[in-house]
Amino acid sequence: MERSVWSESIASALLRKHNLRVTTPRVAICMRLLEKHCHYTAQQLHAELSPSHAGLSPNTVYLTLNQLAAVGMIRSFRLAGNTIFDSNISTHDHAHCRECNQLLDLPSEHLDKPMGLESWVLEWGTRIWSGTCPSCKDRQNQET
Ligand SMILES: [Zn+2]
Ligand SMILES: [Zn+2]
Repeated sequence: MERSVWSESIASALLRKHNLRVTTPRVAICMRLLEKHCHYTAQQLHAELSPSHAGLSPNTVYLTLNQLAAVGMIRSFRLAGNTIFDSNISTHDHAHCRECNQLLDLPSEHLDKPMGLESWVLEWGTRIWSGTCPSCKDRQNQET
């Protein structure tokens, strides 16, 4: 249980740092997002948290994720009609497999400022590469 106390205090501190009131749902959501770099839709995160957080509504999860994104604690982007919330806040690209729906972070060292935006102060951006991952490609090759 030591670890969860530790991450709970970090989550609370982060919320306070961003002038967000520390509430039980916010702490639970932050802790889950801080565990590792991950991508969630609000529905996915609600499904994961609701067994251990009775009474947590999908709407609370959705609003909280948007608040965290608004203050820059997480990022959000649109993918295939869904809003994806990303706990990796460094600039990075994504690869999305259209077969199995997996979403990978790509290393970002090579990402320069896009042409034409040299004089902008940029916060964040991502490109999404869409296609078929190696294991889905292998499965398709076996089926045909
Ligand atoms: Zn795949
Ligand atoms: Zn990502």
